[in-house]
Amino acid sequence: MITVTNIRKSFGNLQVLKNLNFEISKGGIVAILGPNGSGKTTFLKILLGMVIPDGGHIFYQQKDIAGSHAYRKHIGYLPQIARFPDNLKVREILAMITDIRNEPASPEPLIELFGMEKFMEKKLGDLSGGTRQKVNIVLTFMFDSPVIILDEPTAGLDPVSLIRLKELINKEKSKGKLILITSHIMSLVEELADEVVFLLEGNIYFKGTVTDLKSKTDSVDLEHAIARIL
Ligand code: ADP
Repeated sequence: MITVTNIRKSFGNLQVLKNLNFEISKGGIVAILGPNGSGKTTFLKILLGMVIPDGGHIFYQQKDIAGSHAYRKHIGYLPQIARFPDNLKVREILAMITDIRNEPASPEPLIELFGMEKFMEKKLGDLSGGTRQKVNIVLTFMFDSPVIILDEPTAGLDPVSLIRLKELINKEKSKGKLILITSHIMSLVEELADEVVFLLEGNIYFKGTVTDLKSKTDSVDLEHAIARIL
């Protein structure tokens, strides 16, 4: 589905991604892991065309999409920090993004799933962090994108919303979609991920199943395994 070859990116003297090579052959949930600053967000932004790599390719549907906006419409993106004007109402932001993307959107089932009906006429600036995150989740999942990128999607969510999000991610997976996720919550990764790609010092330290990573490090859980690697 996606082939990454020789992706490199530096910011000034800082070599963030040295030489990334890996392949994701089919849909499913792939967790991108690594310590703070290991380049997870940079890699995802290259995939989205928001950062231009210094070299390398990312092939998707036989086309090189590294640093290119051309395939942006195929990708649903939940950024770590979504910046929308505080004075917009939830209803207005949904309409605005639907207009910009110019594609069919079905926000209604998501609004219902996350109990967002009562917030539709509220301004973003008046919402709690968790409720804002639910708006961002609706914005990400309301288009039928074959690839979905979730950068720390659980920020501020209450336990029920977290369950709903997990259900939603699994539902999208069952449609054959590729979901790339970063999270510091290892229990979530362990529960959801079919595969993990572990970035360390600009390279891929490990790619495989959570079970393989645990047994490689002789660990009982993923948190343990990562503590042993770092
Ligand atoms: P992660 O998501 O794994 O925490 P990031 O990809 O956000 O890592 O960042 C990797 C490193 O690159 C960090 O040291 C960060 O400060 C640096 N970095 C990211 N984006 C920029 C940028 N636009 N300009 C300069 N440095 C950047």
